Amino acid sequence: MSAVMPNHGSPRAADERDETLPRTEQILCVEHLTVSFDGFKAVDDLSLAVDRNELRVIIGPNGAGKTTLLDMICGKTRPTSGSVRFNGTELTRLAEHEIVRVGVGRKFQTPSVYEDLTVLENFEISLPKMHGLFQSLTFRRRPDLMARIDAMAAQVMLSDQLARRAGQLSHGQKQWLEIGMLLMQEPELVLLDEPVAGMSPREREQTGELLQRISAGKSVVVIEHDMDFVKRIAHKVTVLHQGRVLSEGTAAQVQTDPRVIDVYLGH
Ligand code: ADP
Ligand code: MG
Repeated sequence: MSAVMPNHGSPRAADERDETLPRTEQILCVEHLTVSFDGFKAVDDLSLAVDRNELRVIIGPNGAGKTTLLDMICGKTRPTSGSVRFNGTELTRLAEHEIVRVGVGRKFQTPSVYEDLTVLENFEISLPKMHGLFQSLTFRRRPDLMARIDAMAAQVMLSDQLARRAGQLSHGQKQWLEIGMLLMQEPELVLLDEPVAGMSPREREQTGELLQRISAGKSVVVIEHDMDFVKRIAHKVTVLHQGRVLSEGTAAQVQTDPRVIDVYLGH
């Protein structure tokens, strides 16, 4: 297998969710989150909240702590202090695979798909309860599962690519495939780290439309640099700087915020 094995974790099981917890409007609530790497605070007393069906974009200069924030939400990095609540569940005490199971899907910056397998096979592997490679490739192609894959392939604009090997896809198509594989797990919150980096202008546009479609049914947090892209898709923008929230509001509001202008001109 030429690709890095993607870590899609195991699917979320509905019965593992605590149904007694209130379903608030805020799906994600980060409070006073801090992580210190040998005394350096990459994320420093950061608080933010994301609503259901919201498409939030996080921007900020290199080193602002954007990736580290996503790492702490998905359990890859343990915070030094602070809290991350998702649907009322404290995530900072859960392991990565448990966080996947409660409904948080994370996509890392570089695409990681099974390059030697076809697009269809990649989708099959990502099906909940089909995550063993052997099982996935030998299970019978049940019509209901095939219908789900067809629908997802259409959603991520890969309907006519199902028979192709993933390694032959364009960079943008690989990113879409990985987003589709993530969505097969039916997460309620999707975290994407710079999904349009390296994409053509046309692919960026299509990705923007894709993210808008996704956020109609779930919450999406996207890290992005391209301000034109951000303006097109963001419901709300959070600007990070030196591990803290520098500004928050609509794309137009943060772009005219003197503190934001200062930081970007300073770089
Ligand atoms: P961004 O994604 O906004 O560009 P990162 O979250 O990747 O920024 O990094 C924030 C800061 O934390 C950077 O200065 C980076 O070097 C540092 N950092 C990130 N991860 C670690 C780590 N595991 N150990 C030490 N420093 C780290
Ligand atoms: Mg980053």
